[in-house]
Amino acid sequence: MSTTMSRRARQTRPSSRTRSRSKSRTHTRKYTYGFGGGRADGSAKMRELLGGKGANLAEMARLGMPVPPGFTITTEVCTYYYAHQRRYPQELRSQVAGALQRLEKALGRDFGDPDDPLLLSVRSGARASMPGMMDTVLNLGLNDKTVLGLIRRSGNERFAYDSYRRFVQMYGDVVLGLKPETDKEVDPFDELIEEKKRTRGVQNDVDLSAEDLRELVAEFKALIQKRRGVVFPEDPEEQLWGSIGAVFGSWNNERAITYRDLYGIPEDWGTAVNVQAMVFGNLGPDCSTGVAFTRDPATGEKTLYGEFLLNAQGEDVVAGIRTPQQITLEGSRRWARERGVDEEERATRFPSLEEAMPAAFKQLAGICRTLERHYKDMQDVEFTIERDHLFMLQCRGGKRTGLAAIRIAVDMVRERLIKEREALSRVEPQQLDQLLQPIFEPAAKQAAVREGRQLARGLNAGPGAASGRIAFSATDAERLAAGGDTVILTRIETSPEDIRGMSVAAGILTARGGMTSHAALVARQMGKVCVAGCEALGIDYARREMHIADRTLGEGDWLSIDGTTGEVFLGQIKTYPSEVMQVLLHKSLDPKQSKIYQTFSDLMRWADRHRRLRVRANADLPGQAEVAIALGAEGIGLCRTEHMFFEGDRIDAVRETILASDTAGRERPLAKLLPIQKGDFISLLRVMNGRPVTIRLLDPPLHEFLPHTDEEIAGLAEKIGVPTDELRAKCSALHEANPMLGHRGCRLGITFPEIYRMQVRAIMEAACELKREGMRVAPEIMIPLVAVARELKELREDAIRIANEVMTAAGVKVRYSIGTMIEVPRAAITADEIAKEAEFFSFGTNDLTQMTMGLSRDDAGSFLPEYVRREILPYDPFAVLDVDGVGALVRLAVEKGRSARPGLKVGICGEHGGEPRSIRFCHSVGLEYVSCSPFRLPIARLAAARAALEK
Ligand code: PEP
Ligand code: MG
Repeated sequence: MSTTMSRRARQTRPSSRTRSRSKSRTHTRKYTYGFGGGRADGSAKMRELLGGKGANLAEMARLGMPVPPGFTITTEVCTYYYAHQRRYPQELRSQVAGALQRLEKALGRDFGDPDDPLLLSVRSGARASMPGMMDTVLNLGLNDKTVLGLIRRSGNERFAYDSYRRFVQMYGDVVLGLKPETDKEVDPFDELIEEKKRTRGVQNDVDLSAEDLRELVAEFKALIQKRRGVVFPEDPEEQLWGSIGAVFGSWNNERAITYRDLYGIPEDWGTAVNVQAMVFGNLGPDCSTGVAFTRDPATGEKTLYGEFLLNAQGEDVVAGIRTPQQITLEGSRRWARERGVDEEERATRFPSLEEAMPAAFKQLAGICRTLERHYKDMQDVEFTIERDHLFMLQCRGGKRTGLAAIRIAVDMVRERLIKEREALSRVEPQQLDQLLQPIFEPAAKQAAVREGRQLARGLNAGPGAASGRIAFSATDAERLAAGGDTVILTRIETSPEDIRGMSVAAGILTARGGMTSHAALVARQMGKVCVAGCEALGIDYARREMHIADRTLGEGDWLSIDGTTGEVFLGQIKTYPSEVMQVLLHKSLDPKQSKIYQTFSDLMRWADRHRRLRVRANADLPGQAEVAIALGAEGIGLCRTEHMFFEGDRIDAVRETILASDTAGRERPLAKLLPIQKGDFISLLRVMNGRPVTIRLLDPPLHEFLPHTDEEIAGLAEKIGVPTDELRAKCSALHEANPMLGHRGCRLGITFPEIYRMQVRAIMEAACELKREGMRVAPEIMIPLVAVARELKELREDAIRIANEVMTAAGVKVRYSIGTMIEVPRAAITADEIAKEAEFFSFGTNDLTQMTMGLSRDDAGSFLPEYVRREILPYDPFAVLDVDGVGALVRLAVEKGRSARPGLKVGICGEHGGEPRSIRFCHSVGLEYVSCSPFRLPIARLAAARAALEK
């Protein structure tokens, strides 16, 4: 932050030459931007300065939409605030006073006026949306005098005291810090409300009278004074500055920091503060408040989707305290069907907004259409209807599931709203996971229903199926997950404090809240399976128990949730592949029957059209190769042959080879392995049907194949006819202190040439046999862990000799190539020398990272997380390529390699080949392909297209 500030300070400080001239014309920075009444100082383009909310309020005002007037205090003030020991720029006070005066004038009502007070909301609004992470204060400006004015104006005493009670509660929490101290503690204000209801003998908040609420206000104030040692401020001016300070302060609260870390939002962006005239959705039955999405945020379906509450304030919708009603009639009928509510009950108790307030509904639907066309994206809006007048409180690009993101992007191309390229840039590669996510195995689910294990139904807030153990708090979820359990985080409702627990859970289940509740929004964004608002659930945090369908379940019990249908089941249910996988892999679903598949396939087709990088898979077995092809592999970039050595009793022949003391002793077991390896390669090359297949010769240190326990040693000794002691001695002789830097990779080929010869023979015999069958084959023989060109030269000559022998004997010619992996920094540095001996390079960035950073692949887990947490490293370099270090070697090797051999083919087969940021780098340095695990192929295809489309 300090660098940003100093840069800005440099820019704004006048030069000595201009300073004298500027004395008379003082240039003050503009810190407040007004909006309302069809005009605005700002616009949607000013998101960096005004934050998302402020910029969009300005834009809606410009579009002539009904926005309560107000002003935005810029993010620059936030940056200044943190750089100057939480002080504001000097000019801010007068600018806020001016903005407030304009507001008063526009509305004909004064802030703090005891007869007819202007009331304000103060809300955060960062550049990137951070739902619920920062603070908000509503109904600001109320005190013991102005509340009387509000009673006169509204003619509703209960409403006025309810607003006052809410204000004191929010202010007490947000500004004065009176909140629960542990996750088991009940909110102290809620406790007083509950107490009041008990003494009055009523069930619901709405049953409390104006008098009760007036008493609560006094009780709240007394509690604040007792617990926080401060007097609740009656002065509206003080309230305003207290709230502004709290909102800026909330930029650095723990949950906002966690959220920023999770989504990579820079700390120095800061938040803006929006001060706006209050409108009320809780003045009576002709008032309401709600949220709407211009398309369904869970499925992406093109239908206005949303929820509202009659006679309520916005916070009630998000907090999930009451069951919200649906906005459209169609949505309301669907909602009723899913819950078994009959039409009569629906229409009387839960009518849609379309029925309850038809005029306002029509206006809202029109605004939603305009906003979507204007922004060319699905919007999420907040609105309030005060006495049948609609007010728009917010609009922003709506959060959506991966499924919805993909569907909306693809549909908008079909609707000619956006271009193919734009659609590709809107879908984050990782979101594709949600299309590939498992569902419950239908038979297992049916069995669960038959067995009466279907416990309840909630809202289908985040698609996919998850089975896991119950945890009742975020901390418990983290603990269980750390112990290796799959967790279903089960809460009455979630709040931003739960975010860490949510991120480790496989699924999230809540008892309260709608599709726009915190749990639903956040789960969707994280791509988690989520069932929200499952009202049949009774949770007792203190006893770590929940009651559901006459059962009591405790922490650690198994539960299964279906976030696509909203169902909750007892116990574990086997999961099943997604529709995409059913179509592509299992061929059990007709592509015409699956909209999800069609959408996926369109997007992939566009990605393929735009990408330059080719995609290959890391696959060792024919089954894996089939998955890879189904998901778009254009070849195999890495077949690790050692994986074939572990199958069945092959391992014994491998062990015999390693333990032999001379060439003849090694050749005997290798002769047994030859037909087996050949069979492996035949199957693999057959599945790949002419696509390139890079087969890597044996790589791991020999001792990895040896027996470890005394029992295993004795067993093997008997099998191969060697005394146990001799075998034990041989095993310990092969032990290495640092095996990753030891006798492995091409060093094995140099010292035991028979092994690589057998493998080359197996590859070439397999290829020749298939070629004679009339199949196309394209084997690429890859030699690992080369550090010096001489290693490669010797091994290559040997391989060519064997290949020629095989082809002569078979009487066919096969096109094959020999190349190497670049895994050792020295190989990268001397890549020009290496390239003279190699027809291709494949970057083994797992080892290259290990060796460049001197960071053990196997042991770094004990300290690397701390490095990432403390930002010593920006991320785990084994997951995301270290562009500056390892990447520099990759770039150098590509340049040097191609300078020595212009047609050199270059790809990557380390884990980074399936990671979007690393793929972007691979594109930028001109690799020909990336190779990754089969399930990451769609992600790689999309990431490659996005990289190609980036400017
Ligand atoms: C690598 O090192 O990046 C690689 C692909 O090889 P392995 O992971 O088998 O060492
Ligand atoms: Mg390697």
